[in-house]
Amino acid sequence: MNNSLYALGDKQVNDISLKDLAKRSRYGGIFYLLAFWAAVFSSATAREHLDIIGIFSGCFLLIQFYRLVLFFKVFSSNEIDYPSYFSRYAFIYNSSALVWVSGSAWLFYVNPTIDLAVTVNVMAAAGISIGGVTVLAPSYKIMRSYFVLICFPFALGAGLLLDQPGNLIVAALIIGYGLFIFMTGKQQNRVYWQALNDNLKLSEQAEELEKAKIAAELAGQAKTDFLAAMTHEIRTPMNGVLGMAQLLSMGDLNEKQQQQVTVINNAGRTLMHIINNILDYSKINAEQLELEKISFSPAAVVNEVMSLLAPQFEKKPINFTCTLDDIPEFVQGDPYRVHQILYNLVGNAFKFTDNGEISIKAFCQESDDTNTVMLSFSVTDTGIGISAEDQQQIFEQFYQVSHFNPNIRGTGLGLSITQRLVELMGGRICVESEVGVGSTFTISIPFALSDQAACQESSALGGVGIKPDLPSNLHVLLAEDNKVNQMICEQFFLKLGCSVDLVETGVMALEKFNGSQQYDVIFMDCNMPEMDGFSATLAIRQIEKSKGLNQTPVIALTAHVEDDIKRQCLDSGMNAFISKPFLFEDLEFMVKKVRTGLHNEITFKEDSRKG
Ligand code: ADP
Repeated sequence: MNNSLYALGDKQVNDISLKDLAKRSRYGGIFYLLAFWAAVFSSATAREHLDIIGIFSGCFLLIQFYRLVLFFKVFSSNEIDYPSYFSRYAFIYNSSALVWVSGSAWLFYVNPTIDLAVTVNVMAAAGISIGGVTVLAPSYKIMRSYFVLICFPFALGAGLLLDQPGNLIVAALIIGYGLFIFMTGKQQNRVYWQALNDNLKLSEQAEELEKAKIAAELAGQAKTDFLAAMTHEIRTPMNGVLGMAQLLSMGDLNEKQQQQVTVINNAGRTLMHIINNILDYSKINAEQLELEKISFSPAAVVNEVMSLLAPQFEKKPINFTCTLDDIPEFVQGDPYRVHQILYNLVGNAFKFTDNGEISIKAFCQESDDTNTVMLSFSVTDTGIGISAEDQQQIFEQFYQVSHFNPNIRGTGLGLSITQRLVELMGGRICVESEVGVGSTFTISIPFALSDQAACQESSALGGVGIKPDLPSNLHVLLAEDNKVNQMICEQFFLKLGCSVDLVETGVMALEKFNGSQQYDVIFMDCNMPEMDGFSATLAIRQIEKSKGLNQTPVIALTAHVEDDIKRQCLDSGMNAFISKPFLFEDLEFMVKKVRTGLHNEITFKEDSRKG
């Protein structure tokens, strides 16, 4: 074996080359026997010595048998002593060479005339040497000793035992031929090890790449888990900060205090916006963002964005309008992400427009497929506009056009997330803009068409059986263990004209509820001691079912924004979802929804995207 050249000497390499050698040499002995027979039976004098032919044939057969034994041992043993096996192969080849040379010498002795038998013998010797050298490519040492043993004694036998004048020519031919074969064999040995080395390097690299890929995936997962945990931890105290700031701002404050509270409010909202963006961004990058495929009304999504953002428009002289062309009533897709995209685009438009108009337009484009529709939403503003150069870059992550306006802040992630979401849904986004005139962002997304019946069936809002005709002064059961949140929610509900009963655990919520239908709506924290919000809701739904009662709407309050938690809320029978931190407007929005009935609305309010 020639490992030193390529620094390959480990067990794996030994194993590969030994197995290679075993495979290549397992039947070689048969050719020695056949070539020997061809030579000796071509000679009339040699033919007479069947006993000697038998002895040589027996030796060849024994060696062949040993080759097979070694082959099976190499492939069946778990623990292989490699040097010992390579020595055994050296023994096989050296003894093959010696038996062959002795047989040939005997042939030359009984048949010294250079005739057909000698010619066949020399040709056969050339053939088996070429074969032997090729087979021995994995091991230079064995090849060398085999070559020396077969070539020189053979040439010597021919030179000494064959008749003159041809004997020296035959001997010279054998040596010349032998040397040529040996040189070729050496070359083959080099090529063999080079190829093996390259192969091993390639598989090592593939293994390393695989390991690196797994490590990167694990690191990505750890990063996403960390971000999810962190954002959850930040959300709960932020609910306290934002809620209290809002309560303060609703109180009796002088102008300066009012300004200070506004700063707290705005800073808190900005912080939440950044946290949400980072969470989305990391999820998209880790390819962990899963899209919903449910029936929804595109018009309802647009209306919801309008009603959520409308209060902001009181702060600027901007006309906020919406045009819904002839769009399908229901489509299949992810309403929450469409909502997020529109919210983001209108939010940007509002940020960069001081006066004039912002409009949302929804329209359909021609689609080849009769079952799908290409739905487009465009958001047009009369704001500062974007230069052609910046238009090329605004969709890149963390890119922000420098406006030198300290009031305009962001992460530069909004449009990059929006673009990735649109692309995940199989759509595209484009922008047309002129500096000083305004901008239009248009998204076009293909949606499968859906009929209303399917929508109502799949709607997790459970339009069926929800209490109808609710009063405007709702009687609310609030299950929440966090004291600060209790305080905020209670105050918010009172301001909304609702009466509130407070409990701290799922068990207490269940006791209070008790199937008496005294509450118009239940706001349920998901994580509570003793019994969590999911189990409590499941139990409530069971009680209602067993007593044949209408469902009391249950709205989840949670600091988790992951899709699977949202799904868990709906699966446990909750009707809608508010993520913490929530603002007064969010509770107001939800209370309004409960008052008017939750039917045919999108499943839950995606209120974690506020800017
Ligand atoms: P951010 O999340 O910080 O708002 P975006 O990715 O949403 O960042 O936007 C990137 C940049 O694109 C913004 O900093 C702004 O300069 C520009 N931009 C986006 N929308 C508009 C718009 N409607 N009018 C003018 N500029 C815009």
